[in-house]
Amino acid sequence: MVYENPEGIKIGLEIHVQLNKLKTKMFCGCSSDYHNAAPNAQTCPICLGLPGTLPVLNKKAVEAAIKVGLALEGEIAEETQFHRKNYFYPDLPKGFQVTQYDFPIVSKGKVVIEGEDGEHVIGITRAHMEEDPGKLVHLGSIEKSKGVLINYNRSGMSLIEIVTEPDIRTPKEARRFLDKLRNILEYLDIFDGNLEGAMRVDANVSVYWGTRVEIKNISSHKGVERALLYEIMRQKNVIRHGGKIIQETRHYDEGRGVTISLRTKEEAEDYRYFREPDLMPMRVVGWIPSVRETLPELPDAKHARFIEEYCITDMHARALTSKIMLADFYESICAKGVDPKIAATWTADVLLGELNYRDLAISSYDGKKIFFLNTKGMKIENSFKVSDMVELVPLFAEGKISDRSAVEVIRSILDSKGEKSPFRIIEEKGLSKAEDDLVSKVVAETIAENTGAVQDYLGGAEKSLNFLVGQVMKKTKGTADAKTAREFLLKGLKG
Ligand SMILES: [Zn+2]
Repeated sequence: MVYENPEGIKIGLEIHVQLNKLKTKMFCGCSSDYHNAAPNAQTCPICLGLPGTLPVLNKKAVEAAIKVGLALEGEIAEETQFHRKNYFYPDLPKGFQVTQYDFPIVSKGKVVIEGEDGEHVIGITRAHMEEDPGKLVHLGSIEKSKGVLINYNRSGMSLIEIVTEPDIRTPKEARRFLDKLRNILEYLDIFDGNLEGAMRVDANVSVYWGTRVEIKNISSHKGVERALLYEIMRQKNVIRHGGKIIQETRHYDEGRGVTISLRTKEEAEDYRYFREPDLMPMRVVGWIPSVRETLPELPDAKHARFIEEYCITDMHARALTSKIMLADFYESICAKGVDPKIAATWTADVLLGELNYRDLAISSYDGKKIFFLNTKGMKIENSFKVSDMVELVPLFAEGKISDRSAVEVIRSILDSKGEKSPFRIIEEKGLSKAEDDLVSKVVAETIAENTGAVQDYLGGAEKSLNFLVGQVMKKTKGTADAKTAREFLLKGLKG
């Protein structure tokens, strides 16, 4: 199947990635860990842009940019340099942003995603380094705001801006691309995607191969998908009514799910870019081999290895490598000698399913347990241990607990906020698999108590057997093996 893109939709993304795992900001010694600091507490004359200060470039930020370039299979510039992008806005006290212009550190990369018609390659035009401005906090909605507060804690944080080619054809592909990119960046251990503002996206979109409109500063991947869906619909409506799409910048109002016109789009000339005289051009070419050596195994390679090494399905391998913490957690379980296929099922299907149901996201892994955040980004006191899975998998593999009981154990571990072990839960709840003697006794009782269903079954209503199996499971509180219960029932019904 080839996706024809009948509406000529072209989407390109610009992603600002904050290197929030670096200890310090881009040009000064202020801490990068500002998310819980009081407003404007983590600032200094450099990141406040006071006259007479000089920037000192953070070596780790350059290293991170090279890593990103290599991971995206891009070309690293032999020589690169910084420019000033001039504009006047309160989030930028210097009156210019230090960024890169015609000599970005990375060009021509790619990311392969699961597209509308199989594997789809999204070209990366460039990736460059720049500093983050401060943060404006509007009082009320952006259009009717009576005032604005400014927090400069974010000012001077290291950013990498990644720009894609307009190769994305649907809002869903945009979201998949962002998920994949976030995953790659987390593998590189340069940013924590769970922190507020870690990844901010501008999306360019056009329909019928026409004029493109930019939607600024969307903070979630789901938000990008929704904003694009809305904007595509809006553009098609304008054209249907004989109107013309104008090149402009729009804001996405997450609450109302609409885009609002902010201003007509600036051209590069408006920014009067010129070379940053306070920073020397950099030759990074000699540095590339040593950075390459530090590159970890990336998601696609890990995915292929998991299938090969653990003989698990493509789907399980994809789920387990979708987050570096989860992949590490799974490998720690396998390293303890448990069956990797069963461990994959209980981790990828049951545990992840439960986390989804509870709106929990994995936030970290310390080698022994994974920890969770709720979807609003709040840390919560809950975890799941490697040892929990190492206890549970053999119990299930050896037939000591039933399918249903194993699910119950996983739920109970999460309910107990990671306090109780599988052994303890199985004992407290009496979840050990019912012995055959007990099942056979309960089957006899069930047949005696449900004469109606028995008659129906004997009269040819096959479905009644399922009802009887259900009764046996209920009486044994789910500890019976459903297959054994069915066999015993069939025997009992014949006799
Ligand atoms: Zn500072």
